[in-house]
Amino acid sequence: MSIYEFYQIFGQIVFILGITLLLLLFVSLILGKILIRQDRLIFPKLLLFTIDVFYGLFKKFSENLGLDEKIVDQIGVEVRNKVNEKSFEKIEPKEKILILPHCLRNAECEAKLGSSGLQCINCNRCVIGALKNKAENMGYKVFIIPGSTFLKKIVKENQFKAVLGVACYHDLNYGMMKLSKFSCQGVPLLKDGCINTKVDTKAIFHKMGVINTKNRTPEVPCDHRPHKRGFI
Ligand code: SF4
Repeated sequence: MSIYEFYQIFGQIVFILGITLLLLLFVSLILGKILIRQDRLIFPKLLLFTIDVFYGLFKKFSENLGLDEKIVDQIGVEVRNKVNEKSFEKIEPKEKILILPHCLRNAECEAKLGSSGLQCINCNRCVIGALKNKAENMGYKVFIIPGSTFLKKIVKENQFKAVLGVACYHDLNYGMMKLSKFSCQGVPLLKDGCINTKVDTKAIFHKMGVINTKNRTPEVPCDHRPHKRGFI
């Protein structure tokens, strides 16, 4: 085989791989879109497998296609939520942990950062105090963490079977992927940022089983409202 023929075959293989990846991306996006819009679960394991394996490539492709960069994380979170929904509900609250992001705190928060996260003093300036109280009264262990590095420590030092997490889509998808051996549920932030972020507290209470919000229209993250560029 000449060097020219070798490069020709190599080029064809790269081209076929590229087309296959594009097809996988489209299939994943379509399945994800159906799931989110119609609340249906279609080939969830395949969807999660392709999203996890080709995560970086999918993000890049979505970006190049002019799609909302959060679409891959959003689909990842929604599929994981759907897959784990029933098993999460069956687990007792005392075997669950609630992980809140410390960006939800008020700009004037006086809580100190400890080895397992922010030590909220429940000053009522933000939703963290109320969420923490409610969850702890039910039996949850609550952690308010600044980043995913705290996750490893929490997993190492605590016994639990299920996780309810709140974060931006990117961190939520990553966290749920890393904690996939547990039954995970995630609630995305309505507004991202470093401080004074927002979350749909009713969605958290619904996941905790405190209120039934089945027929309510969920609040939409700012980044996914129609006036912005978006796929969904
Ligand atoms: S409720 Fe807790 S987290 Fe929120 S501002 Fe007060 S001390 Fe900080």
